[in-house]
Amino acid sequence: MTSEASLPPEWFSKRFESCRDILPAIQYKPMGSLQNPARKRKISPVWEFFDQISSNKVKCMLCSKELVYNNNISSMLRHYRDLHENKERNEATRKQELDEALVTMIVKDTQPFNVVEDVGFRDFVHKLDPTYVLPTRQAVKAMVEAKYAESKEKAKAEVKKVAAVSLTSDMWTSINMDAYLAVTCHFVDNNTCLNSVLLGVVQFPQAHTGENVTYVKASLMEEWGITNNVTCLVTDGAANMIACGRELRLRHTICTAHTLNLIVKKALDQTPVLSDIQAKARRLVAYFRSSTTAKVTDRGVVWMTV
Ligand SMILES: [Zn+2]
Repeated sequence: MTSEASLPPEWFSKRFESCRDILPAIQYKPMGSLQNPARKRKISPVWEFFDQISSNKVKCMLCSKELVYNNNISSMLRHYRDLHENKERNEATRKQELDEALVTMIVKDTQPFNVVEDVGFRDFVHKLDPTYVLPTRQAVKAMVEAKYAESKEKAKAEVKKVAAVSLTSDMWTSINMDAYLAVTCHFVDNNTCLNSVLLGVVQFPQAHTGENVTYVKASLMEEWGITNNVTCLVTDGAANMIACGRELRLRHTICTAHTLNLIVKKALDQTPVLSDIQAKARRLVAYFRSSTTAKVTDRGVVWMTV
């Protein structure tokens, strides 16, 4: 029987090579490289935070602390994990949480993006957490837009799941005389809960014709993927809305609350005694609204200055 000791040296090198061929996943490192710190830096990511200042000392680049180095990175790893890793992670998480809370506040309270530039608000935030750096107005705008896109995709996925939806829609003019058209979608989900999703509030500078209203509503329905799932459209009784319902070939219902309101208005107009009282009340309200020297106090007492 042949013993290994009696085999020629070439046999060992040949056998070693064949092992490497069989196990390619095991990386072969020549012994010489383990003694070379330059080589080690490439192996461990912890070297990104340390500098070797002598043969047996390293310096942390984050806090300048010097550690003894004996060709072993365990003390460096421990130092980084204990003092820096968690701190960095916690700070990043807190910053993200506060940014998200800021976006939620702006959306819920309809605050302008430049609220982050208001001196009082900045001081208030600094008092709460001096380490938090408020994002810029532009960054807040981008965050709100990203949040909107994310929420819209979620809502779209919910709306697409259901077989049938109803729409309500209305138009109005803002205090700046800009016209808007809004469409809201309503549906019952799998848990038999009624849900409402605002499909869009579209600025409407074009003529308020039935054709234009139809075009905008059809675009929104297509965008949300519900063109073939709308079972009913509810609007006021305006001529353009009625024309729109006809054009879209939907079951169209006039809003009951709106109709009731019209009935009451018409009834008041046709009752002379009531319309006289109404006219007096209007004049009274107009007087107190236009006068800076007269007002009604919280106890209902008329108060005037001369
Ligand atoms: Zn350090």
